[in-house]
Amino acid sequence: MMSSDLHKEILESLRNKQEEMVGTLEELTNIDSPSTDKAHIDRFSNMLAEKWKETGASVHILEQKEYGNHVRAEWGKGESQVLILCHMDTVWAAGETAKRPFRVENGKGYGPGAYDMKGGIVETLYAVKTLSELGLAPKNRIVVLNNSDEEIGSPSSRPLIEEEAKKSKAVLVLEPSAQGGSLKTWRKGVGMFEVAIQGRAAHAGADYTRGISAVQEAAHQILYLHGLTDLDEGTTVNVGIVQAGTRSNVVAEEAHLRVDLRVKTQEAADWVLPKILGLKPVDPRVNITVTGGLNRPPMERNQKNLALFQLARAIGQNMGIDLSESGTGGGSDGNFTSALGIPTLDGLGPVGDDAHSPGEYVLLSSLPERAAVLAGLLMEI
Ligand SMILES: [Zn+2]
Repeated sequence: MMSSDLHKEILESLRNKQEEMVGTLEELTNIDSPSTDKAHIDRFSNMLAEKWKETGASVHILEQKEYGNHVRAEWGKGESQVLILCHMDTVWAAGETAKRPFRVENGKGYGPGAYDMKGGIVETLYAVKTLSELGLAPKNRIVVLNNSDEEIGSPSSRPLIEEEAKKSKAVLVLEPSAQGGSLKTWRKGVGMFEVAIQGRAAHAGADYTRGISAVQEAAHQILYLHGLTDLDEGTTVNVGIVQAGTRSNVVAEEAHLRVDLRVKTQEAADWVLPKILGLKPVDPRVNITVTGGLNRPPMERNQKNLALFQLARAIGQNMGIDLSESGTGGGSDGNFTSALGIPTLDGLGPVGDDAHSPGEYVLLSSLPERAAVLAGLLMEI
């Protein structure tokens, strides 16, 4: 490991850049980048590509037809590679930043997507800038993948992420930290399903027995699905949307359920998936079709991820920054890379709170600190 003096020098240099970092965060936050709006997100990727070029990185815009363009930046030399993942998209529609532009209050930076996760992009830019200024060369080349579609499940970027991850010694994910600044060593896997239940319509008064109620069948299936929840195992099944029926005097012909599944381990996924996909009707006259599956595999709390966390913690200790470990039920692109067996550490983005809500904020003093830990990791991996 580098001397703790060098770690402190990195932190010091970044602390001197805090104001500049906040300025960059303001600039990035005030450009709308909704996942589903190609024109806006392409504007953002062009701007970010320019910022990466300024660091001396070799930059490629990866053009996409349907989704926003991704940006790949490669910096430094080395036979082996470390991958950094930063998504550029936010959950906020175009026009949101005009309504709620970035603002600073009591040491906190507020604005759409500032915490999730434009703050992480700023950290990455400045970690690289600082290493470059201090003349420090990591052993590995650094590849930063800025994708445009994480918030909608990474449909177009997943293959790119997996391809880069397979070439990498480690993957660092700059998603926001967990509560209080914890790093994330695990994330649950996420499944999404649609259940279509087909019965037979009939007059509820004159012809009740000719009807096959999709609503009654849905009630059985909802209770069964929720019954698959196992909190000790970390498995949850939630029917979040129920649509059924047309009139109270009609036996309902159709019902549709939308189901969310969360699992902590692949073993739990293997147990529950066939049960959901193989739903059997309680009334044998009913037809049930289930579509969907696991959208993100679980990022398990394994030895490889823990080792990366321990390294980050040791670097933090050298800098006087206390780093704890945690996990979450929400998925990220780290799920894909960890499931491939590549050591993955997530939650390296800023400290803050309230992602996906108008109250979301970044604790501004955490920007240089977390960027310093990231720079330390890039030197030590
Ligand atoms: Zn995010």
